[in-house]
Amino acid sequence: MNTLIDSNHSENLIPKRQTSSLIEFLQTNGTFARLIDLLSTKQNDKSPDAIGRRGWKFVIGKEKVNKKSSINFAKFNKFILEGLSDLIYPHNCILCHRLLLIHNPQIFLCASCLSTIEHNFPPFCPKCSKHLINTEQPLCSDCLKREYHFDYAYSACFYNDTLRRLIHLFKYANKTSLRHHLGNLILSFLRTYHINLGKFDVLIPIPLHPIRFRERGYNQSHLLAQEIARHWKIPLSSDNLIRIRHTKNQALVGLKNRWTNIQGAFRIKHSSQFLEKSVLLVDDLLTTGTTVSEAARMLKEAGAKKVDVLTLSIGAVKFKDNSI
Ligand SMILES: [Zn+2]
Ligand SMILES: [Zn+2]
Repeated sequence: MNTLIDSNHSENLIPKRQTSSLIEFLQTNGTFARLIDLLSTKQNDKSPDAIGRRGWKFVIGKEKVNKKSSINFAKFNKFILEGLSDLIYPHNCILCHRLLLIHNPQIFLCASCLSTIEHNFPPFCPKCSKHLINTEQPLCSDCLKREYHFDYAYSACFYNDTLRRLIHLFKYANKTSLRHHLGNLILSFLRTYHINLGKFDVLIPIPLHPIRFRERGYNQSHLLAQEIARHWKIPLSSDNLIRIRHTKNQALVGLKNRWTNIQGAFRIKHSSQFLEKSVLLVDDLLTTGTTVSEAARMLKEAGAKKVDVLTLSIGAVKFKDNSI
């Protein structure tokens, strides 16, 4: 049975019998289990974190005195500070603003919103990776209608309402911290389907025109590409493929005009960088694929031997929100 004892006096603070039901509750309570895990450290732990072990001790199970674990005050302070931070700056779901009870920087959505993310899954279209509904066709219906200049595109999620809202926050509301969460969605997809990015020589985010970059202050594709490049340790090239035409927002252009709207939008400053290279273009969203296809065309012209595309989400050609 667990007991709470003062390590300096080796006296029980609370008699065992009175603590039994409390301890049973603590043992079955995930939050307290996590708290104990956070605060506990072994007696022989000489790490700087283990300072202050002369304080309160948690004795786990029937372990003998010399195997007791003690509070790690560095972790305890961090826990308290995080708690205070939660009070001052509550940790809320970024979409529905519901209060998140667990302080974990990795968690940005409540369970309800998280469950609405639709992950892309096999069978994949052999060209754009969109989930293939009709497996009797060689490609998805979009890829049957047009030819792309890239070799293959990978997409982590379906562009549903949740992704639309997340991308909108990421692109237009300065929620740049979403880069980690959205980057993790991509990394998780790559892990799940054993997609090895080690074969690529360079990652290139789809660039923004300087005017749009000034308006926005950042390029969301660059932020995503940074996450992927850091994880896979692949060089990132963000200033060689540039956007030279300030094109109309592709979403505001009719489907038929998207190809002409984007033509000639990119230029490569030093084509030798891409000669015989395997290149991975990174973007947030693939709908008609016109933008990434045009960038791939330029890279192929510059001598790239392979140009693939990696996007956070893939959508149907028609979508509701014209602001994307
Ligand atoms: Zn939510
Ligand atoms: Zn396809």
